[in-house]
Amino acid sequence: MSALRLWGNEDTIELSRIKRVRGILIAIIAVTSLTPLVFVAPDDAPVIVNVYKYLAKTGAFVGSMLLIWQFLLGFRGVVSSVFPDLTWVVELHKWLGQFGVPIIALHPIFIGLYYGATEGTNIYALDLGDPFSQWVLLGMITLGVIAFVVVTSVFFRDQLGFYPWLYTHLSSYLIPPFLFVHSFLLGPTIQHTPMRFYWWFFAGVVALMYLYRMLHKLGVGSRTYRVTGAREVADSTTEVVMETSTRPFLPAPGQFVYLRHSLGENSHPYTVSTYDPQRRRLGVTVKEEGEQTARLQEASEGLELIVDGPYGVFTRDALATDLPVVMIAGGIGITPFRRLWETLEQEQSREAHLVYGSEYASDIAYRDELDALEHVNVVHVLNEEPDFDGETGTVTIEVLQRHLPRELSDYQFLICGPPAMILTLEESLHDADVPPDQVTHELFAT
Ligand SMILES: Cc1cc2nc3c(=O)[nH]c(=O)nc-3n(C[C@H](O)[C@H](O)[C@H](O)COP(=O)(O)OP(=O)(O)OC[C@H]3O[C@@H](n4cnc5c(N)ncnc54)[C@H](O)[C@@H]3O)c2cc1C
Repeated sequence: MSALRLWGNEDTIELSRIKRVRGILIAIIAVTSLTPLVFVAPDDAPVIVNVYKYLAKTGAFVGSMLLIWQFLLGFRGVVSSVFPDLTWVVELHKWLGQFGVPIIALHPIFIGLYYGATEGTNIYALDLGDPFSQWVLLGMITLGVIAFVVVTSVFFRDQLGFYPWLYTHLSSYLIPPFLFVHSFLLGPTIQHTPMRFYWWFFAGVVALMYLYRMLHKLGVGSRTYRVTGAREVADSTTEVVMETSTRPFLPAPGQFVYLRHSLGENSHPYTVSTYDPQRRRLGVTVKEEGEQTARLQEASEGLELIVDGPYGVFTRDALATDLPVVMIAGGIGITPFRRLWETLEQEQSREAHLVYGSEYASDIAYRDELDALEHVNVVHVLNEEPDFDGETGTVTIEVLQRHLPRELSDYQFLICGPPAMILTLEESLHDADVPPDQVTHELFAT
């Protein structure tokens, strides 16, 4: 069996096809964002007025379309069926915001100048008894919401922490309806040209996405799995195994699922650490972190969980090459490697190393299994046990150099662990001339 087929199961995944599909998506975004400008007709007026007009329309149409695409790409359920690489999608999502926001900001500036030049009016001197002013106000509120979401996400994401950021980010749901109402009611290009059909089409797509999001929240598309067993595999770390009687998921090694106990609970991501297609069974290994992970530590037989997925492509690139592989795990970042080391051990076709950083020896998950590996070379690194008869401290490039028999640039690296560890190692590997496409990581946080 080729390495690639192994990742993709029966759905063989071709990397070149993925690159092509990404290119097509970017082309579609560019074309759909620029198309509305075709409907804008110049005024019979001085050039400067038309400059104001085109810049105002560019802001309105191109900026709105980029933000609409950004919004659509935020729906992981739909998007992941075409783009399993959610990391790439999240990057594109952020990038669209970074471009869309300055572009949309052109609109209020130049539409104000345009009205000033053509009608001698200041549209921002609001008269709230006048419907025109009311819809201008709606546009200003929309810009305020956009600014709020962008500022909190770009500048205060780390200070806010995960949940405050998540809840502020939810206000972005207001943006598309506000944008459409404002533009349908005020935009002459939309009202008087076939552009209205174009705009209605995208309004319809956005509406369908809202519907999908609601249905997804209500459990449509998710599967119910029943817990068949739970066991402690390290301190505060429990493996929870579950089965479904419905059509099972087919997660590739390293992929993750979203779990929740009930429809009211937020779904959280967990890597599938064990998987048995014959028995429609999968397992996750959970480290206690907060409320949901604490509940999962207590999981007992018969507990029903709502699961959706699978998502992610963490191990895909590594399995698409024949390079010797180095898995680097920090703490609970060990989970994506479990299925990988099982396969590598079974096939014995590739040189394989696992460098596993833990605080204490009692934190090492699946210790017995790791000790029994013969083909995969396991190196433990303990941070809080200075007397450990092995590597101590954190996982560094020096540790790798001590244990890997070849040049670092001969290996494919996979890293999963705390963000600081990922960042430091990626920088060091880069400095050691390891090509960037030979280093991939999975971050256990958004
Ligand atoms: C791709 C991926 C795979 C993961 N795999 C595993 C795994 O195999 N085993 C494991 O123990 N943990 C895994 N995690 C981390 C796990 O999702 C969090 O520990 C868990 O959600 C914490 O929930 P809580 O209610 O216990 O704690 P909370 O107090 O609710 O959250 C603690 C922290 O967990 C993170 N988190 C919470 N909810 C989410 C969310 N919906 N999306 C992303 N991050 C979130 C945030 O950083 C938050 O600050 C993974 C995370 C990601 C992104």
